[in-house]
Amino acid sequence: MTSQPDQTVRWRESDTAHHLHPFTDYKGLAEEGGSRIITHADGVHLTDSEGRRILDAMAGLWCVNVGYGRPELAQAAYDQMLQLPYYNAFFKTATPPSIELAAKLAELTPKGLDRAFFGSSGSDANDTMVRMVRHFWALKGQPEKTVFLSRVHAYHGSTMASASLGGQAAMHGQGGLPLPGFEHVMPPYWFDYGGELSPATFGEAAAQAVEDKILSIGPENVAAFVGEPLQGAGGVIIPPETYWPRVQDICRKYDVLLIVDEVITGFGRTGHWFASEYYGLEPDLMILAKGITSGYLPLSAVMVGPRVADTLIAEGGEFFHGFTYSGHPVACAVALENLAILEREQLVEKVRDDTGPYLARRLAELRDHPIVGEVRSLGLVGAVELCADPATRRHFEPLGKAGTICRDHCFASDVILRAVRDAMIVSPPLTFERTHIDQMVDTLRTCIDRTARDLG
Ligand code: PLP
Repeated sequence: MTSQPDQTVRWRESDTAHHLHPFTDYKGLAEEGGSRIITHADGVHLTDSEGRRILDAMAGLWCVNVGYGRPELAQAAYDQMLQLPYYNAFFKTATPPSIELAAKLAELTPKGLDRAFFGSSGSDANDTMVRMVRHFWALKGQPEKTVFLSRVHAYHGSTMASASLGGQAAMHGQGGLPLPGFEHVMPPYWFDYGGELSPATFGEAAAQAVEDKILSIGPENVAAFVGEPLQGAGGVIIPPETYWPRVQDICRKYDVLLIVDEVITGFGRTGHWFASEYYGLEPDLMILAKGITSGYLPLSAVMVGPRVADTLIAEGGEFFHGFTYSGHPVACAVALENLAILEREQLVEKVRDDTGPYLARRLAELRDHPIVGEVRSLGLVGAVELCADPATRRHFEPLGKAGTICRDHCFASDVILRAVRDAMIVSPPLTFERTHIDQMVDTLRTCIDRTARDLG
C-alpha cells in the first residue's frame, strides 16, 4: 500500500464517487474534498494516508477498548478461520466459541443475566430485544404490553426499531420514525433541563417523568423501559445519582421490564465491567456490542435474565428470530480473546483506579474557561459543554456550531474527539495512559481557545 499524495487524491475521488458513508452530509463532504483516509493503527494512534499520526480519543466509535494492533486478536481470528470459519447456531447446532462466549458473558455480567442471544451490531441486538420482550409479554397473557419507553437524546441504533427506540430528533425526521409503540421522556440531562433545580432534585424529577409517562400510557400497555446507563451518543449525559434507583423502583412498581443498553458503557468503559454495577442496577435484559470484541469484528449480544428466559424456554415454542451471523465463531473467538486481554491487563481496574480519576481531574481544569459550562466524566468517557454563558448555561446559537468548530480544530491538530451539539466528547481506548490524557486535554484547551476566537 502506498501513501503518496496522488494515491490519497485517487482514494478521495473514488470514495466521493462511490461510497455513501453513514451519518454524513454527502454534499458537504464532497465540497470539503472528501474524507480523511485512515490506513493504519497501533495502540491509541491512527495513521492517515498522508502519514500523519492521530491520537484517537474516541476509540473508533467508542469501541476499541483494548487499543489497536493486538496480535492476539489477529491470531484468534486466524486460528478460528482455519479450524471453522463459519457455522450457524440455527436448528440445533452450535460452535465451541459461541458456547464458551455465552458462558463467559454469563459469568461477567450482573447476576441473573445468564443467557446470550448473539447478533452482529448494537442495532440488531436492540431489534432482537424488542421482538423478544413483546413475545414474552404475549406468552405471559399480556399481549397489550407492547410500548417501549426510552429517553430523548437516547441512541440505540439505526434500524427501524432501534432508531424508534432512540430519541434522536434528526433520525426521527427521516424515514417515518418513530414506529408506533415507542415513547420518549425527558433525559436526566441537568445541564439542559435542570433549570434552577439542584442536580439531585432534578434527577428525581427526571425519574418522576418516567413514572408520569407510564401512568399516562397505562402500565398495562408498557413492556419495558430501556436506557443507556449514561447516554453516550446523546452527549455523554451522566444522570444524577438520584435518578437510576428511582427509575428501577418505578419499573418494579408497575411491572415494566428494565433494560439497559450497555453497548458503550460495557466492558470497562466506566471503570466497572458494566455501568449497571456502578448504578446498582439489576436489569432484566442487557444489550452488549462494541467493546465485546473491541471492534475488531462485528458482534453483539442480548443478555437475558431468568424472568424472560425461563418463560421463553418453558412456554415459548420456537423463537422465530435470528441472523445468519448469530454466534459467528470467528467473532466469538475474537471476543473471548479480547475479554482475556481486559482481564490479563486489568484494564477495567486501571480505568477505575488510575486513568478514570485522572481524566476527571484534568477535565475539571477546563471548567475555568470562559466558554466551558460544565465538565463531566465517569471512567474513560467524558464531556465538556461549550456554551455562551456558563453562569446561566445559555447555549451558543445555532446550537452545534461551536462544537463543530472545536471538533474540526482538534481534528486538524491530529486528535480525534467528537462533538454532540456543543458538548465535546471523549471516549478513548482503555489503554490510554496519563500522558495521552494530558495531550488530549491540552489540545482540547487550545482548540477551545481557537473556537472562542472564531466565534468572536
Ligand atoms: N446502543 C448504543 C448505546 C450505542 O451507542 C450504539 C452505537 O453507537 C448502538 C446501540 C448501535 O450499535 P451499532 O452501531 O453496532 O448498531
